[in-house]
Amino acid sequence: MKEYADPQQARLDAMAAPLLAWYDVNKRTLPWRGTRDPYQIWVSEVMLQQTRVAAVIPYYQRWMAELPDVAALAAVEEEKLLKLWEGLGYYSRARNLKKAAEVILSQHGGQFPRHYGELLKLPGIGEYTAGAVASIAFGERVSAVDGNVLRVAARMALLEGDIMDQQVRREMRQRMNQATPSDRPGDFNQALMDLGATVCLPSGAPDCGVCPLSPACAARAAGRQHALPVRSKKAPRRVEEMTVFLLLCRGRAALRKRDEAGLLAGLWEFPHVPGTLDESQAGTVLAAWGLNPLDWRQKIEAKHIFTHVEWRMTGYLLDVREAQGAFTWADRTELEGMAVPSAFGKYLKEVHRALEEET
Ligand code: SF4
Repeated sequence: MKEYADPQQARLDAMAAPLLAWYDVNKRTLPWRGTRDPYQIWVSEVMLQQTRVAAVIPYYQRWMAELPDVAALAAVEEEKLLKLWEGLGYYSRARNLKKAAEVILSQHGGQFPRHYGELLKLPGIGEYTAGAVASIAFGERVSAVDGNVLRVAARMALLEGDIMDQQVRREMRQRMNQATPSDRPGDFNQALMDLGATVCLPSGAPDCGVCPLSPACAARAAGRQHALPVRSKKAPRRVEEMTVFLLLCRGRAALRKRDEAGLLAGLWEFPHVPGTLDESQAGTVLAAWGLNPLDWRQKIEAKHIFTHVEWRMTGYLLDVREAQGAFTWADRTELEGMAVPSAFGKYLKEVHRALEEET
């Protein structure tokens, strides 16, 4: 038997056999499973970076129906691209997918780069995505380390480093590269993802009783599985208050486009101003925009949590006399074609309902 100077690495290296046997029986059935098409794997992995699997499935299916390959993605119009991504958040990821598709067409003759190092050079592709595509689509022996894998590895080998520390992550990635088997590297990575998502769960809830790694798991043996991985506390979220105007005028609603840079860049939004305004203060804003309120219908509170910011919103749904001001006045059909971020989801629903009532 091989002698190890590094017992923690020995535990990670021993994961492949039991994990793959478990995966063969327990793997999740997902629309992007079973394919070796790098395009499909890439899109699914990028979608999964911010959203739960169940929520991603309809997005993925709609995307593939509309944009079945790299050429279709490279050619898609921005408005349609953002509409397909609407609700997934982090819209720069959708834009990067398109940019990368353009690079694949212009610099790689439409063929997906086959190696991890080449994939990493594409816009928006980081180490995790490059590892997933290279291993699953092309069988390259490289790890794909996301939060799930960090958790499993930290527990399995009792790695106590803070996983928010980039150096710790780099070391864990190197360890996992070594632990990845040369046969079935893609299945190994997917097995880790599935184990992390269904068995070795976060927040102190691992189901060690059914885990195939249980006999060799150092955290379980030490009773430390609930304490790992170590993760330093994030800075508290900044709270931003705002007043949102849901302006209606004869079957149309007012929207404006966000700046082309920054949070939710280039998407449509309802006009808003900073701070929580009462009705009379809101009336002053309307006057400054050259608008005359006719009927204040409803006050609607909403909030949306981003990674670093929380929006607390006070919305006013009201009719105005003239459809003017520096806004785009959209009817129901036009509104359906506009990409409005889910931060305004509650308001979008109310505006749709109000427009429907008028037709
Ligand atoms: S035994 Fe428990 S802590 Fe260890 S890898 Fe399995 S589920 Fe995670």
